[in-house]
Amino acid sequence: MPQWKPRTLLAQALGAIDPASRAIVPPIHVSTTYERDADNQYRSGNVYGRPDNETVREAEAIIAQLENGAAAMVLGSGMSAAVAVFSTLAPGDHVVAPRVMYWALRNWLASEGVRRGLEVSFVDAADAGAVAAALQPGRTKLVWLETPSNPLWEISDIAAIARAAHAAGARVAVDSTCATPLLTRPLEFGADLVMHAATKYLNGHSDVVAGALVTAKIDETWTSLQRIRASHGMILGPFEAYLLIRGMRTLDLRLRAACASALELATRLENHPQIEAVLYPGLPRHPQHELARAQMQGGFGGMLSIRVRGGESHAIATAARVRLWKRATSLGGVESLIEHRASIEGPDSPCPPDLLRLSVGAEDVEDLFADLDAALRG
Ligand code: PLP
Repeated sequence: MPQWKPRTLLAQALGAIDPASRAIVPPIHVSTTYERDADNQYRSGNVYGRPDNETVREAEAIIAQLENGAAAMVLGSGMSAAVAVFSTLAPGDHVVAPRVMYWALRNWLASEGVRRGLEVSFVDAADAGAVAAALQPGRTKLVWLETPSNPLWEISDIAAIARAAHAAGARVAVDSTCATPLLTRPLEFGADLVMHAATKYLNGHSDVVAGALVTAKIDETWTSLQRIRASHGMILGPFEAYLLIRGMRTLDLRLRAACASALELATRLENHPQIEAVLYPGLPRHPQHELARAQMQGGFGGMLSIRVRGGESHAIATAARVRLWKRATSLGGVESLIEHRASIEGPDSPCPPDLLRLSVGAEDVEDLFADLDAALRG
């Protein structure tokens, strides 16, 4: 069998054909329960809908292949995927996590994670040395990374951090939501687990909340994750799994468009008189641009942030004036979104008050620029 390119695998959802009907689009398996064989076996591999589901397995096969992993699982949200990973840890375990990361997960770690007995060190994860210095050999069980990191788009050196973490006996999990498996495959840089908020680019149409985990190998942690998903009822529903598969068919096309437009916008906005700074790993002046070039293939993602001259009030006023961009949270859909992040992240956030986060969609880049330019100029 040839090594088809990711775009090809995605377009045909791995080429799966329904064996019963020969349908090109496999049916959605909605049954929550399955008939036992007369000799009391379950040879179909299906028993009950909470531990597993056929449509869910189809989505998982695609994601595992894209990430070049041993296996994948999909869950009810990106947060549930992350929480499942932290649920494999025991009270007293030490975790290293980034200072800049998805705010709701950072808040969960600092509150619920600590209540569960985890000790969490938040560090500058753009500095591999700072991550290494935070490791407590034997006590640190997990290093959590997010690259590019929300909403400042810093880049973490997965390979260097994985080497240091493994030497200290810790595993590495990477929230790769914004890179997607098309730009970065963290397992190939030494990570043990990859997490996606599949709500974002993988689905791509802002109509499914879903999460995904991929493992480098089937080990005790993976078995424990399967147990946690089943016993906590964290599996994705079959309709959502179907929509996720449908969305992933065009991931490559959507992401290429978003990356090209984001780079074009970042380059133009860098010299805009109303803009203080543009945060985007594709810009040569980004502090980790060289690392981004080495770790991301085919683009630097569809996410960027701008810092608006004049501070918070000017940033909020700019967002108020757009007509095409949608003022909304989330990211990774075909419609472009603009958001004043500090308003949502709260006082503990490292997000500056003058920052607007942009999720670049599939619209014409000239329209996107014209709308933003007009909003910035007032
Ligand atoms: N990770 C990142 C980078 C995110 O942007 C988000 C959601 O915005 C999540 C995780 C959480 O995903 P979900 O909203 O599907 O729970």
